[in-house]
Amino acid sequence: MCSQPSFFTRPYSGEVLCEQCFRASVESKIREAISKWQMLQRTDRIAVALSGGKDSVALLSALVKNQQRFLESKIIAITLEEGIAAAKERMLTVKTVTQLLGVELVVSSYEELYSVTMEDVVERIRETKFPYAPCVYCGVMRRQGLNILASQINADKLALGHNLDDEVQSMLMNLVRGDVQRLSRLAPFLQESSAKLVPRIKPLYHIPEKDVALYADKLGLPIYECPCPFGGESLRTEIRQWLNAFEELHPGTKYNLYATISRLASPHQSQDTTPFRECNICGEPTSRSICAVCESLQRLGFGTKRKL
Ligand code: SF4
Ligand SMILES: [Zn+2]
Ligand SMILES: [Zn+2]
Repeated sequence: MCSQPSFFTRPYSGEVLCEQCFRASVESKIREAISKWQMLQRTDRIAVALSGGKDSVALLSALVKNQQRFLESKIIAITLEEGIAAAKERMLTVKTVTQLLGVELVVSSYEELYSVTMEDVVERIRETKFPYAPCVYCGVMRRQGLNILASQINADKLALGHNLDDEVQSMLMNLVRGDVQRLSRLAPFLQESSAKLVPRIKPLYHIPEKDVALYADKLGLPIYECPCPFGGESLRTEIRQWLNAFEELHPGTKYNLYATISRLASPHQSQDTTPFRECNICGEPTSRSICAVCESLQRLGFGTKRKL
């Protein structure tokens, strides 16, 4: 421990850090993740998914800082507008963050890609009383939309701000749903088996959400904090609450679950083996005949509105 006043205590390790050491430790964990998984090459074009929230702002800022080691690489922030009336301000945050960091920004939207907004989707869910929460539809559109955007800008990597909490939540969600295929695709760096999928990297995968939030808070950059009005009812929220309660009682639970599930389910294979084909409707990669987005839009009665 250095002689500066203590700023942060890590309950799971007992470390007591001053602010400067805390920031350095987070950045060092990000560098370790990049190097351990060989996430980046010197000349990579890196698309960074930027929502304006703490995780993506922390990731973008850390990657810009880390760019001194990858001088020939190029970082481009990409963002998708979901079309949520209450979240309009988000775009202002995204633009300000990229301006302050001197990063190019490329924007698209669900409306542009799929001819629907999340407001349309939520209205249709309410009318039809479909059993899935809005986040399920939003998640499949975001996952595919970010890949489309990253492909359009010829990115070599798609960087996502998923932290340790996100990853453990996803693992448990896939376990609850019995989705072994998706569980095996949770590696921090996945070399995709389809040429149409931009390889994803998750440099924050081993950093707890609380640490990322505190790190982001000290960057002096704007953070978009307004919670989405459609986000309260998902399985992820229930699992997050359960996990946080357990972590409080038994510090280290998240790390232990991550390590154990990784070993059991092999999400640490860096080469994906999923047999991908092209969606019969839109041509995007999918392991089935119709991709999850086209299936969702059809289920909600939007099938013919697809623009792609
Ligand atoms: S909370 Fe759910 S619906 Fe709202 S932006 Fe996030 S994933 Fe989409
Ligand atoms: Zn210190
Ligand atoms: Zn499709």
